[in-house]
Amino acid sequence: MALVNEHFLKLPGSYLFSDIAKKINTFKVTHPKKDIIRLGIGDVTRPLPNACIEAMHKAVNDMAHADTFRGYGPEQGYDFLIEAIIKNDYASRGIHFSNSEIFINDGAKSDTGNIGDILRHDNSIGVTDPIYPVYIDSNVMCGRAGELETLTGKWSNVTYMPCTSENNFIPQIPNKRVDIVYLCYPNNPTGTTLTKAELKKWVDYALANDTLILFDAAYEAYIQEEDVPHSIYEIKGAKRCAIEFRSFSKTAGFTGIRCGYTVVPKELTAGTLTGERVSLNKLWNRRQCTKFNGTSYITQRAAEAIYSPEGKIEIKENIDYYMENARIMKETLESIGLRVYGGVNAPYIWIKTPIGVSSWKFFDKMLYEANVVGTPGVGFGPSGEGYFRLTAFGERDKCEEAMKRIKNWF
Ligand code: PLP
Repeated sequence: MALVNEHFLKLPGSYLFSDIAKKINTFKVTHPKKDIIRLGIGDVTRPLPNACIEAMHKAVNDMAHADTFRGYGPEQGYDFLIEAIIKNDYASRGIHFSNSEIFINDGAKSDTGNIGDILRHDNSIGVTDPIYPVYIDSNVMCGRAGELETLTGKWSNVTYMPCTSENNFIPQIPNKRVDIVYLCYPNNPTGTTLTKAELKKWVDYALANDTLILFDAAYEAYIQEEDVPHSIYEIKGAKRCAIEFRSFSKTAGFTGIRCGYTVVPKELTAGTLTGERVSLNKLWNRRQCTKFNGTSYITQRAAEAIYSPEGKIEIKENIDYYMENARIMKETLESIGLRVYGGVNAPYIWIKTPIGVSSWKFFDKMLYEANVVGTPGVGFGPSGEGYFRLTAFGERDKCEEAMKRIKNWF
């Protein structure tokens, strides 16, 4: 008899967005004439930049001729893309990497979920709360998260660092050692950021405690303010304690195309039980060569085009478009007396629900009374209770209409 990985059975019944989809379906059946505006799931609506489309057409033509055809590519990604990343995302900020420190992937979800493959099952975990659910669920799947405490909604081997309006969404550094800490900045779901000085405290903690930081910078391209770091490697010493994840999904509309990358510096090591130090770059490379066969050539050519002069202009236009949505949303919601966070360096608006109204209650009321869909904050972790997330990724007219409806509803 084949036995299942029973850790999977510990995962709560369904995924947040399936619960939301079910509620929307029920609403649609009972209100077939109502038109719903969806500002819930964090998916983009602007089409791909023309520079990427042209690069993909050209890459398709390469595939049509024997002399330019590409079969299996390097598991780590093509040098043309890796070099564009190093030059534009890092060297431009005074950070230097060799090609073998960058691993191209099919999006940040895969690698933030898979990175646990190279880490022992009994490492302790620290997460900011609320949090992008993949970090927790992927640890549950291999048993690292422990058991779910049903009363609190927390996992027994996970240290939660609440981020709420009370601490201005700045997680407090744990007063004990944690082996692995997930940080995501700009943050999904709260849309908040850390300054360089605040992030430095985490790097210092990690270096002092031999902690590995898994830094998710999927929303880096949305940063507008000066003092917000785009990469954890802007902080001295971070190459010795952090892996960074980046994604082209929100930067350039690649949610459907699928491409991102992971940086695993050569200096970064972790221990064995006998006290040896092992290169995480070597382990990750080994893992990728066994379990991943590379991102498609056509996709990588599209990603390379993001860094062309035309590509840079086009992605900036798209990001500006979403950030203008965020501005409109934030202003409207504040004008009706709601407390609103995020939306300045990130395409997420994090709303405090009125006193006594739970995240799901707010969701239901907004769906039934304003016909607008958002995401209940509690779906991202216990400290998300009493909050609600809207995304700024919608089309402008939908976004404006949604704000009009919410204003009338209030
Ligand atoms: N990390 C964070 C914080 C996200 O919010 C998302 C997607 O919403 C991802 C990673 C996944 O991105 P990708 O589309 O690159 O898999």
